[in-house]
Amino acid sequence: MVSGLEPANISHHDMNRIATLQRALSKLASVNVAQNWVDWLKSIEDIGDRPIGYKIKQPKGSECCWCGAKTLVGVEHIIPRSVGGPKVERWNLAWSCYACNWNRKDLIGMPMMSSDKATGWLSIEWQRAPKEPTKQELLDYLSGLEPANISR
Ligand SMILES: [Zn+2]
Repeated sequence: MVSGLEPANISHHDMNRIATLQRALSKLASVNVAQNWVDWLKSIEDIGDRPIGYKIKQPKGSECCWCGAKTLVGVEHIIPRSVGGPKVERWNLAWSCYACNWNRKDLIGMPMMSSDKATGWLSIEWQRAPKEPTKQELLDYLSGLEPANISR
């Protein structure tokens, strides 16, 4: 045993500092997961058929980013608005059919569907995505929580 780490040598003040540090490290890891994932989404901004705004009606022939169907599509926010997904930025917009949009609800991940149907461009890109953040991780990151602000 390392003598300096015996509990008797750790003051209450030290324990509080350690707990604070552990919380900060855990938060930092979460922010990194969200940041990596958002960076990945931004890196594929030029891939796929994208709406140019969230109020735009779909051009004829647009296909669903998830299932690839060329059917009636609407604007999909890849990061749902409910967890802070940007409303108008191109990297967060895609076309999605109503079935996929409904099946996905406000998940961060893909809509529930069999893999043989997941042939849309975003489904294919998704296979190369980094670790998916949780809703809370995305909320923390997208609400502007920078690592520098965590240690307060
Ligand atoms: Zn679809």
